[in-house]
Amino acid sequence: MLMLPDEFQPELLPAGETDTPNWWFVFAGDNLLVRATASGAELPTASIWPFAKLRTTRRLYLGSLRGQPCHTAEVETTAPPPGMRFESLRALWTRLDEALLGVASHALQLIEWDRTHQFCGRCGAPTQRRADERARYCAACGFTAYPRLSPVIMVRVVRDGQILLARAPRFAPGVYSVLAGFVEAGETLEQAIHRELAEEVNIRVRNLRYFASQSWPFPHSLMIAFTAEYAAGDLRVDGRELLDAGWFAPDALPGLPSPMSMAWRLIQDFAAGAE
Ligand SMILES: [Zn+2]
Repeated sequence: MLMLPDEFQPELLPAGETDTPNWWFVFAGDNLLVRATASGAELPTASIWPFAKLRTTRRLYLGSLRGQPCHTAEVETTAPPPGMRFESLRALWTRLDEALLGVASHALQLIEWDRTHQFCGRCGAPTQRRADERARYCAACGFTAYPRLSPVIMVRVVRDGQILLARAPRFAPGVYSVLAGFVEAGETLEQAIHRELAEEVNIRVRNLRYFASQSWPFPHSLMIAFTAEYAAGDLRVDGRELLDAGWFAPDALPGLPSPMSMAWRLIQDFAAGAE
């Protein structure tokens, strides 16, 4: 599952000189620089910035993974060095080491945050990195901006042994997933679930239970998953937010989202016999 590995230690500055190789998480847009190998993909390692010809727009020190310093950088070009390529994190799932992919997800969110917080959201003056915490600071007005997270609820609803799955216009052809939506300001997670289900499929549920959470760096979501039992309502979709919704038996599931996603875990857990 996509997550920051337990062996990762976030730090603002390198601890000092080290003989171990440094990992470089280099992004062009949202795509990570890797070297393709016979078995998958490798990340570049070097003690200093290894790509003299690539101009960086920003660099951040991230921390260390199993004692190896981790850096991230955003480059101006989308043309990779010889023998390497820029690939999306989704495309690298199962091909890049899972711990490295987890750090890459962290790195991508910090790069995106740094890129979009160069100027103060309150007064418009340029911001600077803070030395004592992961934040950008506006010296003109004192405002501090922290890396942003957007909570998203996700819920698996089951009725008589069948799971509720729906199809949104942005999904790949044939793919259905569990219902999900952003939490609105002032809402609890539970309220967000009840609202989303009422708005999107006209369904009420009971027995909400927490399932698990997952970071989703596209661009900065925190997925918070629950399970629930159907209580009332006839399925109805509006044809815009959702194109279709239905109840599916575990042996007759439609196309599913990426195995990297929390939705996939929720659905697999159902298919494996959970209620
Ligand atoms: Zn300001």
